[in-house]
Amino acid sequence: MLKMKGIGASNGIALAKALILKHETTKTNPKKINEKEIEGEVKKLHDALKIAGDEIKQLIQNTTKTLGEEKAAVFEAHFLVTTDPLLIEDTEKLIKEEKYNAANALESTANKAIATLRAMDDDYFRERAADVIDVRDRILRKILNIKTIDLSTIKEETIIVSHDLTPSETSQLNPKFVKGFLCDIGGRTSHAAIMARSLGIPAVLGLKNVTTKVKNNQFCVLDGNTGEIGIDLNSSEKNKWVAKQNAWIEEQKELLVFKGKLTKTSDNHEVKLEANIGSPKDMIKAIEYDAQGVGLFRSEFLYMGSSYFPSEDIQFEEYKKVLSATKHKVVIRTLDIGGDKELSYLDLPKEMNPFLGYRAIRLCLDRKDIFKTQLRALIRASAFGKLAIMFPMIATVEEFKAAKSLYENCKKELIKEKVKISDDIQVGMMIEIPAAAVNAEIFAKYADFFSIGTNDLIQYSLAADRMSEKVSYLYQPYHPSILRLIKMTIDGGHKYNRPVAMCGEMAGDKIAVPLLVGLGLDEFSMSASSVLETRKIISTLNKKDTEILASKALQCETNEEVKSLVEIFLSKK
Ligand code: PEP
Ligand code: MG
Repeated sequence: MLKMKGIGASNGIALAKALILKHETTKTNPKKINEKEIEGEVKKLHDALKIAGDEIKQLIQNTTKTLGEEKAAVFEAHFLVTTDPLLIEDTEKLIKEEKYNAANALESTANKAIATLRAMDDDYFRERAADVIDVRDRILRKILNIKTIDLSTIKEETIIVSHDLTPSETSQLNPKFVKGFLCDIGGRTSHAAIMARSLGIPAVLGLKNVTTKVKNNQFCVLDGNTGEIGIDLNSSEKNKWVAKQNAWIEEQKELLVFKGKLTKTSDNHEVKLEANIGSPKDMIKAIEYDAQGVGLFRSEFLYMGSSYFPSEDIQFEEYKKVLSATKHKVVIRTLDIGGDKELSYLDLPKEMNPFLGYRAIRLCLDRKDIFKTQLRALIRASAFGKLAIMFPMIATVEEFKAAKSLYENCKKELIKEKVKISDDIQVGMMIEIPAAAVNAEIFAKYADFFSIGTNDLIQYSLAADRMSEKVSYLYQPYHPSILRLIKMTIDGGHKYNRPVAMCGEMAGDKIAVPLLVGLGLDEFSMSASSVLETRKIISTLNKKDTEILASKALQCETNEEVKSLVEIFLSKK
């Protein structure tokens, strides 16, 4: 029996068997072969091509059933790579004439094709490079005999144990079978955690070496709130966890009385609670938990779930789905890639500090082709609901103006093309860089609304990487400096009558909520599963009392001082 404690990253209690997920690289060994090995290596190549091709055929069938023919078409292209006569002929030649081993030969010819596609002047061909990369790795895994698990095919109640999970892997998990997951690295604001919360899958991250402690099929338990986990428990401990899980389920049921209610303090000050989503299917949970709209649709997950840049039409369909699912406002954030979010088909420069580098709006203003495709899709979708467009990582007024002007150009283009669009699209920005918070009053002249991204604002203010466990002690949401930046943002926005929202994790944090109400925040956007609990907390608060609490907090010296101030305040409720 073993107990460990990590970072509770997605609420809920899970009990199930462990499934260890290993990520092995497809790195090849450049060792040359001898004459006698040639035949064997050629056979290895053909066997791998056949198995990879069969897998892809299966994928085409499954995808056609679940997502339709259009989505399956990409795998048709993958299949063609496995039967490409030129690729096969060149690879065989390298084995026979240059004595390359099969893996090395295939990697070499595929890489050549990838480089040729990438160098082309046409977006379509450049995007095809990503398909060849995908198929190259699939064939290499077969040659190198690397086993992989297709996460969407898990059909048994499981707790996944992995060193890390990429956001796109997380998005494949089916909550019906994947009851929870445990990772060596990551924290509450890493994107795997954010995805887990929107899927409603409990998770504990930052466990350091859990992958070396758990064996496949061992019984595991986890509490995604406290970060506690247990492995191979005896029966009395197991019973305690079953009781704990039942109590949690009961609590969730009790919160249902807050469904269909407005979000108000006891003295009738009203705010809005919205959902953070990563895909149209998250709208099911947003509606189930009665979120009053979407405060953040992280559109980058759409890009991350694809093996090529999603076209304007594909994006339009996805945005339309979300907008048509609710009568409330939907805030869609433009592509925020970079930092811990990568695209397999976009070569980002290797930087020393990716969170401070080429990401989000910086990349979009540089790659206007990518940005314009998204803006056009968004504006077209505006005809189907209440759309607000939000630019991420704005540091300077010039950036906001440049992004807004591209948006205006796209709008003009679409009007000229006689496309039906809404005449009331709000265009706002995230406040997640301290410079933007300090200058909020200036930005408020130009932006229709603000949404505070505390996940990044905290890491930039205290200079503490949100992915690093070593400096996680500096990740202090209640630090008076953070509260001051939030206050500056709210006051700056309100000076020009701009609504101010928060879509960072702090918006659903029990300790932060009374402070944010006191500081005058208008909209709180969080994972859907936190909405009803937050509505309950707000119903117990008095606006005047929270204002006094917030002004006391602003006078505190440390994160801990603020935390205990709020805890004492809440204990008197
Ligand atoms: C944030 O930074 O608070 C935010 C909401 O954006 P992300 O977590 O996607 O960086
Ligand atoms: Mg951010």
